[in-house]
Amino acid sequence: MYPVPTSLSPSRVEAFTSCPMAFRFASIEKLPEPPSIHATKGSMVHRVLELLFLNPGTQRTIATAEPAFQQARAEYLLDPEFTELQLSPEQQQAFFDDAWTLVEAYFAMEDPTSVREIGLEIRLEAQVGDLGLRGIIDRLELDEEGRLVVTDYKTGRAPGPMYQQKSLGGVHFYSFLCEEVLGQRPAAIRLMYLRTGETITATPSAQSVRFITTRTTAVWKAVERACVTGNFQPREGALCKTCAFQPWCPAFGGDPTLAAVEAPVRFRPLAVA
Ligand code: SF4
Repeated sequence: MYPVPTSLSPSRVEAFTSCPMAFRFASIEKLPEPPSIHATKGSMVHRVLELLFLNPGTQRTIATAEPAFQQARAEYLLDPEFTELQLSPEQQQAFFDDAWTLVEAYFAMEDPTSVREIGLEIRLEAQVGDLGLRGIIDRLELDEEGRLVVTDYKTGRAPGPMYQQKSLGGVHFYSFLCEEVLGQRPAAIRLMYLRTGETITATPSAQSVRFITTRTTAVWKAVERACVTGNFQPREGALCKTCAFQPWCPAFGGDPTLAAVEAPVRFRPLAVA
């Protein structure tokens, strides 16, 4: 029997549905994973845009983005999320060059001087029954008619049309949180894919918000069941290629009971020593 989580974020909901076994390792046993260049670069670019938006509207230019970028760079050079990548000087340069390319790409997508933001990196949490749903909204703003708009920056590639609804699932989740916490359903939710310059926009409805609570409640019940029975099934798929827990996954001949001891030694040797 495992402890049942009391709250879920959109990414955790997706993680459980993608592979319950990987969810067990990461979210129930809370085992460390090796840092990822992609995730670290994404969080650094988010930080640059957050710093950019701390400037008054008229000053949000590429010129002010440069000191914001330098500040974020200095922060990340000391951050374990970056230092544990153990990049060579050349790799570090390539990392920061690419991060800056994503910041420049942002300016090609919209004019930040015209954005009427009312919140950045907002943490929202609401209860559905016994379960806490929580999420962080990159940017909340008002449109020309004063209605709420949620914007989420993405540093990966935009999904194909088949997968757009899936990728919007997380943002519908945020529209549910807005409605619960701020009392207003957003007029639009936008995913800005900086890598490809595409923006996917959706209009949340009462139905899409209801769907999120129904689905999340169903996933949470499945999580609860798995915690009680200890039955977290591996689900082989595209994620296996990059799954750090593969050495302990029964689908690949591994023993999951060894992960708690071996994963920290393998992925966080300095912390264990
Ligand atoms: S290797 Fe694949 S099946 Fe196994 S835990 Fe990871 S994602 Fe799940």
